[in-house]
Amino acid sequence: MILLDGKKTSNQIKEEIADKVSQMKSRGERTPHLAAVLVGQDGASLTYVGSKVRSCERIGFESTLIHLDEATSEETLLDQIDQLNNDPNIDGFIVQLPLPKHINEEKVLMAVDPDKDVDGFHPTNFGKMALDMETFIPATPYGIMELLKRYEVDTQGKHTVVIGRSHIVGRPMSILMSRKGNPGNATVTLTHSRTQNIEQYTREADIVISALGVPNFLTADMIKKDAVIIDVGITRVPDTNHPKGYVITGDVDFEAVKEKASYITPVPGGVGPMTIAMLLQNTLLARKRHG
Ligand code: NAP
Repeated sequence: MILLDGKKTSNQIKEEIADKVSQMKSRGERTPHLAAVLVGQDGASLTYVGSKVRSCERIGFESTLIHLDEATSEETLLDQIDQLNNDPNIDGFIVQLPLPKHINEEKVLMAVDPDKDVDGFHPTNFGKMALDMETFIPATPYGIMELLKRYEVDTQGKHTVVIGRSHIVGRPMSILMSRKGNPGNATVTLTHSRTQNIEQYTREADIVISALGVPNFLTADMIKKDAVIIDVGITRVPDTNHPKGYVITGDVDFEAVKEKASYITPVPGGVGPMTIAMLLQNTLLARKRHG
């Protein structure tokens, strides 16, 4: 079994980006600038946004965190987005999800200028991705593709089962794996909560990408020998023995599944760190596009 080490790989990617940034600086060029908008005090969102901002600082990007109160109106948030869209110093920005219930998420995502949409959530960018055009690819699926590429995992003609059809992970993942290319060229089955007898698909799969958010859902009896297992799930499971009061748990029963798999991502240290690295990669692309 080979561990797909997202921590190590993401550090390599960050070093590569940092080298490019220092070359830009030595040529007297403006460095990439990422902004993040966070509304409210959701614990996981604070952690994610904090790591994104720290990663920017480490590789030499400019970063701006706009932290708005939970009670912020939709109108105020849309005004903020408008300002970011029109600020020539901002190359890209993200609006951390989930948003408070009184704010229409779709309206907000639609308001982001597609040229600054480094999360790749705008329909324009999603459409371009589906049409094989160069664009911002959503960071989590992009990170998985990069991990498969750097570890030279063969995806050509392989049966890939994706579990979960969310707009940010499962659905784009299924598109990317079925695109022409390497990695890609896979035969894809997209499964979800209405899929019947899901194990009949996972047992046939050469590659399983699990993104449902149910701890230890994928067990060893659900996969075939030498399958490639990608675990996207991140769930905080309460644990009084842990100083934080919880442990981060993936969708895969790692200890048992690793004995049968050919490649597997750990949680934490697998897909999670890759997501941040690819957000930075998208920001670098945005900077290059803005000239
Ligand atoms: P989501 O929007 O809640 O979507 C979950 C998907 O899983 C849905 O399509 C749902 O089906 C499906 N599902 C739920 N229960 C199922 C079951 N028992 N059998 C089969 N399918 C089932 O979640 P998400 O945003 O995609 O995130 C999924 C997980 O990945 C979460 O744990 C999240 O924290 C994690 N995540 C990690 C990263 C990272 O960087 N590593 C990034 C994003 C998300 P329906 O469509 O039918 O409801």
